[in-house]
Amino acid sequence: MALKGLDYFKFTPKTNCKECGCPTCMAFAMKVAQGGITIDKCPYIKPEDLAKLSEASAPPMKKFTVGTGKFEFSLGGETVLFRHEKTFVSKCLYGVNVTGDNVDKVLTEAKKVDYVRIGERMFCEVVNVEFTGDKAKFLDAVKKANSAERVVILDCTDTAAAKEAVDICKANKPVLNGANETNFADMSKIATDAGVLLGVRAESLEALYDVIQKIEASGNKNLVLDTGSKSVKDTFANAVEIRRTALNPKNGDRTFGYPSIVNLSKLSGGDHECEVALAAVFTLKYGSIIIMSGMDYAAALPLYGLRQNIFTDPQKPMRVEPGIYPINGADENSICATTVDFALSYFVASGEFERAGVPVNLIISDAGGYSVLTAWAAGKLTAASIAKFVKEKCEDKCKNKTLVLPGKVAVLKGELEESLPGWKIIVGPNEAVGIVKFMKDLK
Ligand code: SF4
Repeated sequence: MALKGLDYFKFTPKTNCKECGCPTCMAFAMKVAQGGITIDKCPYIKPEDLAKLSEASAPPMKKFTVGTGKFEFSLGGETVLFRHEKTFVSKCLYGVNVTGDNVDKVLTEAKKVDYVRIGERMFCEVVNVEFTGDKAKFLDAVKKANSAERVVILDCTDTAAAKEAVDICKANKPVLNGANETNFADMSKIATDAGVLLGVRAESLEALYDVIQKIEASGNKNLVLDTGSKSVKDTFANAVEIRRTALNPKNGDRTFGYPSIVNLSKLSGGDHECEVALAAVFTLKYGSIIIMSGMDYAAALPLYGLRQNIFTDPQKPMRVEPGIYPINGADENSICATTVDFALSYFVASGEFERAGVPVNLIISDAGGYSVLTAWAAGKLTAASIAKFVKEKCEDKCKNKTLVLPGKVAVLKGELEESLPGWKIIVGPNEAVGIVKFMKDLK
């Protein structure tokens, strides 16, 4: 059962010393109960109490990292069923399924999908290597996947093949997805010895529960749950049931408190469009790793866009830091343009300025993280706010005193000219799509 603020408060010394960063012990206790701070931030709680409370205040779903370096990603750590309740913690990862027979072809195609959207690199993060009975081919595919700069999942219930495969790629923190009702002890030992996450599967949810409990009893709590591949209906029901059970605040049982793997390549029957639709469904509910038979731009554009919208914190506007952003090699003699700090506005506008091929200093002032018209209507984007930012941050850095204003706030032109003597204010296009032509005509 989740503890309340008062439950934690009882164990604090009530001296209000502020060392934890909270003004009072009560404030600290309330923050711990909300998951905003960990109980160990108070140095005065007795070690024996700390051990009990740490377990009780841990997130209901365990959080892990897979992969290494630039290709390290977090899995799990979720605390809510719905994004609007708080936020989701770890974005789902998309992967492709390969076998010894198609590894080169599938990897080559998947690698073509690689682009940046709103500052985030969009690419296929995972390669699931499926064991189909031929160990030599499987190990060859594992070597290729391991050098593909992706997180590798070893989809293999054969313990001998799994052991050799883990030895090939364990330095890159793969997932060994192979424990079932019969081999779990051996698989758990292989995964534990190599320090990698173990994927667990079973014929039914009840059987899965039993296998997890047996693996946990042996001391291994580094698990990922395979939601199965009997049918779309069963897999979806399993994914939802696992997450609901794990996050139910009235349920002290954390057996299902692990991230999940959904392998759609085994469910879609070769129907690519169906697979993409299913990937969207499991992005929402509740695949931590979603494996598909292939990845192309037609699948990636809607899926990655959906993921980016779901796995952002709804309490924080997506914004970029105010500053001067040189585009196309702009220097102090280049023309200036301005827009708001709402991330989508910034990235759409900067992309269009880049396409125009003209050097531009893009000036971003603090507009509250809103879009152009919203910021203007809310009084966050005004002639005074732009002029203040330009005077403080840009006057000495920009010799070219020409400033392009978003067309939607053309109404600010006169006031800006008065506030920024010496600057030439030009009204730009209403929509970002007009920037390329506008800049070329300006030359
Ligand atoms: S550090 Fe501990 S004793 Fe000090 S204010 Fe925080 S909770 Fe209270």
